[in-house]
Amino acid sequence: MTESNIPLEGEGIPFKAETQQLLNILVHSLYTEREIFLRELISNASDALARLDFVMLTDRDVHDPDIPPEIRIRADQDAGLLVIEDTGIGMTREELVDNLGTIAHSGAKAFVEAASESEQNLAEIIGQFGVGFYSAFMVADSIRVVSRSYRPDAESAAWMATGEDTYTLEAGGREKRGTEVRIHIKEDAREFLDESRLRQVVKRHSDFIQYPIYIGDSEEPANRQTALWRQSPREVEAEAYQEFYKQLTLDFSDPLLHTHMVVDAPAQMYALIFLAQDPQNLVFSPRKEPGLKLYARKVLIQEFCTELLPQYLNFFDGVVDSEDLPLNVSRESVQSNRVMALLKRLVTNKAIDTLRELGQTDPEKYTNFWETYGQRLKEGVAIEQDQPEKLFPLLRFHTDQELDGWTSLDEYLERADPDQESIYYFLGEDPGAVRYNPHMDAFRQAEIEVLVLTDPVDPFMLMQLREYEGKSLTNVAEADLPESEAAPEEAQDETPSLEPEQTADLIVRFKNLLGDRVEDVRTTDRLRRSPARLVNPEGAPDQTVQRVYRMMDKEFEMPKKVLELNPKHRILRALGNLPPNDPKFDLVAEQLYANTLLVEGLHPDPASMVERIQDLITGLLDSDAE
Ligand code: ADP
Ligand code: MG
Repeated sequence: MTESNIPLEGEGIPFKAETQQLLNILVHSLYTEREIFLRELISNASDALARLDFVMLTDRDVHDPDIPPEIRIRADQDAGLLVIEDTGIGMTREELVDNLGTIAHSGAKAFVEAASESEQNLAEIIGQFGVGFYSAFMVADSIRVVSRSYRPDAESAAWMATGEDTYTLEAGGREKRGTEVRIHIKEDAREFLDESRLRQVVKRHSDFIQYPIYIGDSEEPANRQTALWRQSPREVEAEAYQEFYKQLTLDFSDPLLHTHMVVDAPAQMYALIFLAQDPQNLVFSPRKEPGLKLYARKVLIQEFCTELLPQYLNFFDGVVDSEDLPLNVSRESVQSNRVMALLKRLVTNKAIDTLRELGQTDPEKYTNFWETYGQRLKEGVAIEQDQPEKLFPLLRFHTDQELDGWTSLDEYLERADPDQESIYYFLGEDPGAVRYNPHMDAFRQAEIEVLVLTDPVDPFMLMQLREYEGKSLTNVAEADLPESEAAPEEAQDETPSLEPEQTADLIVRFKNLLGDRVEDVRTTDRLRRSPARLVNPEGAPDQTVQRVYRMMDKEFEMPKKVLELNPKHRILRALGNLPPNDPKFDLVAEQLYANTLLVEGLHPDPASMVERIQDLITGLLDSDAE
């Protein structure tokens, strides 16, 4: 904002429309947990102190360089006044206008957007949004903010509002660096002038703020102030982690998991990371961006640092603090810093280990995790260049034997015959299709369990997931079951088959009918229940690769397939016995081919089958009537 459009002294300046809307909701809110306004003001004070620390890493030329960082809360019962004061970065007159005249920040904007849809409900859950500075209007008749910026040549300025539609600006008169928020407390909110009540609220919502919060004249901070992550994990109780998480994210549920690291080599690091039970809980959290809070020697360097975990794991939240990061590290140079790469490796490996442990110790919780975040891990396998195999134990799959359940690769192998050479998977578009898919015939008969992969990301994952515990992953569509795993010979022998000449004749008729729609037609002994199937010709890219191509390039044409016929199947035997030129042949053979396309998810136009199916039905009914 330039000097010329800064509003004149004393004049009422209108708030932006959305700010008015928010004020209106807050002023008239019947929300009972009004105490959260204090959490918001303390959080602003703490942010202001953290920002000053950051500035002072490189710039000692600030106003009042030697006053200690602190937050002080004073109540004056007689005057009905509550003052929250900090020695942070402060605001110039322009900054007061920019920061307090609009709601560009915080969950407030999201809140207002959501409120326009369902005002009633939202007024009840204000506390779960980071509504920010304006929440003070729940308890205020009027608010006066007096501030002195850290910039040496700045002048103190004051901002005042009553919850009506305008605010005013004045000269400030504060000498000391920092900000005072002076709240004239409403008649029905006088509880917040009581020091023991204030102490209770600070303890409840702001215990982990890292700067001391003093109440009244006390020289004892009211908050524990410890950087929890800098404590020894042995000394921290589980409840403290949960409290810390809730104060950090405003999630009202406990985290799904937490993990605390204190590491000395190859880099010194403290880290405390969490996973939400349900990311929905965080939609309006002040932690609205992905990333971890990064501290260098207790100074907040970055509020949302995304350089500490690979992107596919950025659903973790928490804090990382290192003594080894140079203090002059800037937000920009963080990315190229050598220590950062070490920290990232440490945090990433720990996050993965913690997830693996959860999978072993609490499968139910892990399922909950997998159903929420599993997709991301599959993407991770697909894109991770640095040892993607570290992610394999985290994967879960449906199988043909348990279409609704989840199994890990380890569990699959435990159930499988130790001699089984591969981990078999079915790749398709619809899990139900596994039941009809001809490639599954032999596996069903041999009772070999098959993983069912139907996510669009699965073929990409498979490009890197080629082997696990020495067993290769093999597509049932391309598997050649070794003799030991194939169905017993006797079972097949009982089934009558077509005579060799009939079979040869049948193949010719199929070839004539399908022409260049197929690469070739031949028989197979791999099928049981199914009459026919499509397979890739020798040397063609396998199905996984084809799918990847198709998803990356819409123009990509799937290579032509080979049609394989099961000469022992009733339908094929009947076809083989039809007299030459019987019109039923074309009808049945066309539909048979269409069926093989359908189960592969390759039929270009399924509706086109309707007419043919009607002809088949008519034929059936006619023959019954005879
Ligand atoms: P948020 O904290 O999410 O940005 P708020 O509504 O709480 O949103 O605060 C709006 C802005 O006002 C802050 O981003 C900050 O720039 C400024 N601000 C509020 N309180 C202070 C303070 N005590 N010291 C310095 N700046 C402050
Ligand atoms: Mg805030």
